[in-house]
Amino acid sequence: MFSTLSDRLTSTFKNLRSKGRLSEADIDATIREIRRALLDADVAVPVVREFTASVRDRALSAEVSGALNPAQQVVKIVNEELVAILGGESRGLRFAKTGPTVIMLAGLQGAGKTTLAGKLALHLREQGHTPLLVAADLQRPNAVTQLSVVGERAGVPVFAPHPGNQSGTEVDDVIGDPVAVARDGLETARQRQHDVLIVDTAGRLGLDSVLMQQAADIRDAVTPDEILFVIDAMIGQDAVTTAKAFEEGVDFTGVVLTKLDGDARGGAALSVTGVTGRPILFASTGEKLTDLEAFHPDRMASRILD
Ligand code: GDP
Repeated sequence: MFSTLSDRLTSTFKNLRSKGRLSEADIDATIREIRRALLDADVAVPVVREFTASVRDRALSAEVSGALNPAQQVVKIVNEELVAILGGESRGLRFAKTGPTVIMLAGLQGAGKTTLAGKLALHLREQGHTPLLVAADLQRPNAVTQLSVVGERAGVPVFAPHPGNQSGTEVDDVIGDPVAVARDGLETARQRQHDVLIVDTAGRLGLDSVLMQQAADIRDAVTPDEILFVIDAMIGQDAVTTAKAFEEGVDFTGVVLTKLDGDARGGAALSVTGVTGRPILFASTGEKLTDLEAFHPDRMASRILD
């Protein structure tokens, strides 16, 4: 990911390197190149606008410092602004002070929620937590079975809609009310002293108001400490519309970017925090349960500018 954007930005900066000082025209030419590179990488237009305006202002008013030549100064500003649109500081999961921490996953179908549920379960178990997975996705025929398989791999129990079926066994005829499943899952977590509950919810193929309402009802039933909006980094320009719809529908607290191992151009990654103000907590980088990384804005910015 980001390879084209990275190459474009690097060659833009290379052109600046030979210059002893930068005129306003040099800076404007550079800003134009940066704008084009970001738009071609599918970064959302308002984010590009804000980004380039800040870089321009700062580049024009930058003091000539002894340590950095003008080109290095521009690179430093771009780096700092990239860190800022990626959310600034990195943030980990927030845990409840008492009772089980509830983490709810929301996002479009195929975004990678069920896979992420398993990854988080494993990650938390390895940190000494005792998570319980809840299969509240009753929309997709195989979702409960899929979560059961993932739970078994992660060594984490799964609370599924069938009585007595809470340990990763096969479920094939799923029926029931996802809100009740989520609520019962929370009750079970309390009774069995699980300290984290991870609630997988139904994926929407498009922006479906019935399913969005269902997600809001699940949220109201279990009052999550974290609602993680799971978004496929490959979705490009649609990232903004989707993120805004989920922001309105369920008001998520954080973002997880998936499929960063693919050849996405990076637009979703660079836009979603900018348009929602919500931080990216994790990046998913493959199909295996161990392919999960804490998201660090500074490291991501360095990767882009390397
Ligand atoms: P859900 O519908 O949101 O629950 O999505 P799933 O968890 O079923 O994932 C959809 C597909 O994407 C599955 O084939 C996953 O194996 C795959 N997948 C999920 N996360 C990643 C990732 O980070 N990288 C890659 N390459 N594939 C992923």
